[in-house]
Amino acid sequence: MSALNELAKEISLCRDCELCRQRTHVVPGEGREEAKLLFIGEAPGWHEDQQGRPFVGPAGHFLDQLLASIGLKREEVYIANVIKCRPPGNRDPSPLEMKACRKWLDRQMELIKPKVVVTLGRYSLAQFFPGESISKVRGTSRKKQGTIYFAMYHPAAALHQASLRQVIEEDIRKVPSLLAQAEEIKEAEPAPQQLSMF
Ligand code: SF4
Repeated sequence: MSALNELAKEISLCRDCELCRQRTHVVPGEGREEAKLLFIGEAPGWHEDQQGRPFVGPAGHFLDQLLASIGLKREEVYIANVIKCRPPGNRDPSPLEMKACRKWLDRQMELIKPKVVVTLGRYSLAQFFPGESISKVRGTSRKKQGTIYFAMYHPAAALHQASLRQVIEEDIRKVPSLLAQAEEIKEAEPAPQQLSMF
């Protein structure tokens, strides 16, 4: 079993916050182990909780379409969430739950070592750049410790607000050039400092 699969097994046993009480399945994430591109959403919804897989409901179908629009399949990237268990009623995750679950995402990122991280929605953005406004920074990128971070709205936003669909479709088209840029970033980059702003 790969280290990432072993980690997923470990996550599936986690009871470190209240969300373990009402979940049907833990949703660790899935995709290619050596993926260059990592998508990070917020938390599992009803469909994800039922299946134990990320982005399998309507928002997931839209994400699949977005990936297809840039010539990718979900098997070629890795898809995870900040929170691994569904908040009841799809409520926002609490700061305590976010803090308790963060260690799993960190460990996943250590194993995957993505070149480009796409944050989907404000909770995902806040994990890496606290205090940033998704409406201001969406569609822009920054480099940090050899990784490019790119902010997008969560695909579910387009389901609630049709006007955002085109915005999201435009933003995803920037990802291939970011991947090309990432290939050029040297492994040993100095100091964990910001190289360019959103
Ligand atoms: S949400 Fe995260 S920290 Fe909470 S029980 Fe699930 S895996 Fe553990």
